[in-house]
Amino acid sequence: MRRPMIAGNWKMNTDLASGTELAKGLASHVAGKDSSVDVLVCPPFPYLQAIKEAVGDSGISVGAQNCYFEESGAFTGEVSVDMLQDIGCDWVILGHSERRHVLGECDGTINKKTKAAIAKNLGVVLCVGELLEERESDKTGEVLDTQMKGGLADVSEADLSKIIIAYEPVWAIGTGKTASPEQADQAHAHLRNWLSSNYSQAAAEAMRILYGGSVKPSNAEELLGQPNVDGALVGGASLTVDNFGPIIDAGR
Ligand code: PGA
Repeated sequence: MRRPMIAGNWKMNTDLASGTELAKGLASHVAGKDSSVDVLVCPPFPYLQAIKEAVGDSGISVGAQNCYFEESGAFTGEVSVDMLQDIGCDWVILGHSERRHVLGECDGTINKKTKAAIAKNLGVVLCVGELLEERESDKTGEVLDTQMKGGLADVSEADLSKIIIAYEPVWAIGTGKTASPEQADQAHAHLRNWLSSNYSQAAAEAMRILYGGSVKPSNAEELLGQPNVDGALVGGASLTVDNFGPIIDAGR
């Protein structure tokens, strides 16, 4: 059985006060409830340490939204894996579509970052997903294969245990348009198939694959009920306890 994960990607939102309040609110929300779901919050870099403190011993993990692949040195503006671990991060989101399409990251860079993170046992949420025009021209499978092959190049089967895949169709991110549960499950099954062909059946069955793209309380249960959907990566709806709380509950 794959353990569900509900992850919140705060993107470039919140400030110190509102982020801390949100983290404390989430810690109260999960307190006393069964811990059958992993909960992760990914605030902006400057607030990671404060949010780590705010979630306390609630069981909620804290992750970053990006990192760099070099260990240290003259890389102005970058943040290393060691630095993230130093302040208590357990996870990093890599390959998010906004990093790919707004900040111009390619599969090669994402792969270097992935390898740097897993070399130090920092968990990776590796995002993949197609653009609208790619879906409309029936290229979804091809795009996902390229992103999986590129992102996971030279990653061993043993190291896959440190990685979670997030399928996020770009046309569904922040648009209010959600992939239908069938579309999500189909894409997740495709990704699992890729893992089976390129690693093994066991690796494919063990991999957690999250869905992301306009997940909200009203659609979470149905999406999370799909056989190949093991959780959610949530943007907009992760910014309030009122929205993220019920999504966490839907993951149980
Ligand atoms: P959204 O974002 O939930 O606001 O669509 C998801 C994501 O980009 O991770």
